[in-house]
Amino acid sequence: MRYFPLNLYLKKKFGQRVQKIPLDAGFSCPNRDGTLSTQGCIFCNPQGSGTSLKTKGLSLKEQFSYFQAKFQKKYKAQLFLAYLQSYSNTYGPLEKIKKVLEEISSFPQLAGLCLGTRPDCLDEEKLSLIAKYHFKEVWLEIGLQSAHNRTLALINRGHLKEDFSQAVKRVHSFGFKTCVHVIAGLPQEKEKDFLQTIEFINSLPVQGIKFHNLYICANTRLADLYKEGKYMPLSLKEYVTWLRKGLESLRPDIVVHRLNGDPQPQELIAPTWAGNKQEVIKNILLELEQHDSWQGKARGTSLVELNHFLL
Ligand code: SF4
Repeated sequence: MRYFPLNLYLKKKFGQRVQKIPLDAGFSCPNRDGTLSTQGCIFCNPQGSGTSLKTKGLSLKEQFSYFQAKFQKKYKAQLFLAYLQSYSNTYGPLEKIKKVLEEISSFPQLAGLCLGTRPDCLDEEKLSLIAKYHFKEVWLEIGLQSAHNRTLALINRGHLKEDFSQAVKRVHSFGFKTCVHVIAGLPQEKEKDFLQTIEFINSLPVQGIKFHNLYICANTRLADLYKEGKYMPLSLKEYVTWLRKGLESLRPDIVVHRLNGDPQPQELIAPTWAGNKQEVIKNILLELEQHDSWQGKARGTSLVELNHFLL
C-alpha cells in the first residue's frame, strides 16, 4: 500500500470492515445563517453536502437503518460509524446537540461517531458533551481547506488558520481525533501553497485527512467566477500531480479518509472529470505507482516504515 487509507485503519482497530453512514441531523452553519455571513463559502452548494434523506422526512434512526441495510447487503458490514455530515454539526444550542448524540448513542452495531464541523464551532462545552457518551471512536472532521489566511478570506470561510490550530489542540486534549478537510486548486493558489497547507497540518496533532479537488457546483459564487472567466479548476493531470506531492509530504501516521471530492451529478458544472470518482482514484494510484511514490516519502519515510502503520 502506498498510503494509509481509512478502511485499513478501521480494520486494524476493529478487526473487521467498518462502514461510515452519512447522516443529516438538520444543523445549520454560522457562515450561512447570517451569524458570520449569509453567503457561505464560495464553493458551497446551498443545499449542503450529504444525502437527501433528511429532506425526504426521514428521522436520524431511519436514515441510519436505511444505510445499515444497504451496506450490510453490499459489503457484508456489521459495524458502522455514524457520520454527521451536513453543515456544522457542533453549531447550535447545546440541548439540540445533546438530543442528537443521545439518539445516535442508542444505534445498534455502532463503532463510533464522526462529526463534520467548523473550527470556530468547537468549544470546551461541546467537546465535554461529546465525551459524556463514551463512543469507542470519535473523529471531528474539521474544515481547514487552506493554511493561507488570504485564501480563507477570498473563499469567505469566516475563520483563520489560527482558529483551526486552536480547535485541533482542544480536540486532542479530549482524546478525540481530528480529520482535516483540505482543498487543492483554490483560487489564486499554486502547488506550493497547497504543499504549505500540508506542512501546516503535519505540525499539528491531526490524525486524518480528506483531500478534495475544487469543483464548481451550480448556484455558488464560484460558479459565477467560473462563468466570468475569473477561475479555472485544475485539470485531472494537475490534481493527480498535486495529490502525489501532497501525499509524499504528509506524515505517514495520518490516515487518509478521502483522495478526492464526490459531487452529485446534477450539481456539477466543471470540471467534468470530477464526476468520475473511481477514475480519479485510479489515476492517483497509477501516478503513485509510476513515480514509485508513497505517503511520507519526501519526509524520509521508507515504504517499509509506512507499511508499519498499515500492519
Ligand atoms: S462552512 Fe461548510 S456548510 Fe458552512 S458555508 Fe462553508 S462549506 Fe458550507
